[in-house]
Amino acid sequence: MMKTIIKFSTLFLTILFVACNDNNKHEIAMKYKTEFIFPKGDKITNNNFTGTAWLQMLVNNDSTYSTTIGNVTFEPGARTNWHKHPGGQILLVTDGTGFYQEKGKPAQLIRKGDVVKIPPDTEHWHGAGPSNSLTHIAISPNTDKGSVVWLQPVTDGEYSKIK
Ligand code: MN
Repeated sequence: MMKTIIKFSTLFLTILFVACNDNNKHEIAMKYKTEFIFPKGDKITNNNFTGTAWLQMLVNNDSTYSTTIGNVTFEPGARTNWHKHPGGQILLVTDGTGFYQEKGKPAQLIRKGDVVKIPPDTEHWHGAGPSNSLTHIAISPNTDKGSVVWLQPVTDGEYSKIK
């Protein structure tokens, strides 16, 4: 009888341990399961954007790296104003689809996984398409050459021409 009780206890404890262990693994998995690698950040409230966009700075400018890096999320319809970077810019698209356009050229569709190299002093805009959101990491190097030069908004007329 005693032996049976011990056996049952062992079995019960084993089941309990396995159950807890599974539960623990599940909890750990849930804790680290985030849809995006970097935080969405705060809503951008300045006039250099049209629509709703979010920014999380990842690297602030300093004299060692002369680079800023920000994670930017554009809701559908949101885009930057026309602008240029004296030191150029690189975009790493991490989610969704959107557009990149250089002045005088057609807008280009950009999607998750794309790398966009924007030459210095080239007037352009980037942002979401009308019905999809876009998230990209914006790397702005060579900040010693000057910071971003903001220009006029991308008008609804200009934006409506993207395909
Ligand atoms: Mn740019």
